[in-house]
Amino acid sequence: MKKGFVTETVIAAYCSDCGDQCEGDTGGLVFASVEAASDPESGVPAYGWEIDGDLLTCDNCQGRVDCSERGHAWLDWRTITTKVDGREHAKRVRRCDRCWDREVEVLS
Ligand SMILES: [Zn+2]
Ligand SMILES: [Zn+2]
Repeated sequence: MKKGFVTETVIAAYCSDCGDQCEGDTGGLVFASVEAASDPESGVPAYGWEIDGDLLTCDNCQGRVDCSERGHAWLDWRTITTKVDGREHAKRVRRCDRCWDREVEVLS
């Protein structure tokens, strides 16, 4: 049985691409072992991460790969009007559902 302060090794997961740490609702996630971190139900795959041997790819980077191969998953255009010096300017923007890329088109 363990008592008092004990130093324990935990596993944290960092994306091999962008270096982001895998985070849950309350911040950085740590796991008791690599096996636990790889668990499809409760490890990083449950957070949308992909494991390929030693390589980890976060959900954001997977989105980027998908988009460069398949094109963006654009959401609907939204029109935004702003008034500058009494003149109205309209532009429309849309956002990719996967990688959060944005496209802006000036209308007037
Ligand atoms: Zn990443
Ligand atoms: Zn995209």
